[in-house]
Amino acid sequence: MKIKSAEFKVSNSEVAKCPNNDLSEYAFIGRSNVGKSSLINMLTDKKSLAKTSGRPGKTQLINHFLINESWYLVDLPGYGYARVSKSSKRKFQAFITDYFEKRQQLVSAFVLVDIRHKPQPIDLEFMQYLGESGIPFSIIFTKADKLKPKAIENHVKDYCDVLLNTWEELPHYFVTSSSKKIGQDAVLDFIEATNDEIDTLKQQS
Ligand code: GDP
Repeated sequence: MKIKSAEFKVSNSEVAKCPNNDLSEYAFIGRSNVGKSSLINMLTDKKSLAKTSGRPGKTQLINHFLINESWYLVDLPGYGYARVSKSSKRKFQAFITDYFEKRQQLVSAFVLVDIRHKPQPIDLEFMQYLGESGIPFSIIFTKADKLKPKAIENHVKDYCDVLLNTWEELPHYFVTSSSKKIGQDAVLDFIEATNDEIDTLKQQS
């Protein structure tokens, strides 16, 4: 997919206030500093569509970007646990779970993980949560330029081995680097193919 246009539309703290139309959307999420803003800028060929961590004023908002006037790229804030009082249960922040549970237009999520790190409990738990909620997701490994090709292969394999302890099937995954512009076509082509499938299904129904 070629990016013809990418524009910021709206920021919200509540899912009820997100754009009210039926365009498909794809949500990008991960721990803070994983490289999400840089990835969004790289994917959309824009220098500063999404705010990178170096800039102040980063808030806990759901950000909608309209791409090619046909689908939304949704930038979600970094996730963390919200402790529930009187219980040791850990939950993700409510507006994030609200988004995933209520947003009908959501087609698929991309969970970003730094390729250098071993699987982190919070990322694995978030994927588990998505799986249990029936939300399709892919993994995007970020900052691949920080490793040599052989190390990339090993880290991805180790990550997949851990996933296979709990998952029967591996999700799609993408290896990316925003600084070296690696992975743009793979991610965008995946989104394009998914959008085409949805259009075909809509035409058949
Ligand atoms: P966010 O908090 O997830 O939105 O992360 P940012 O996009 O703001 O990036 C966090 C830090 O990682 C910044 O210092 C970026 O320059 C750096 N970073 C992001 N992507 C890459 C990448 O692909 N390669 C390298 N080497 N650094 C990156």
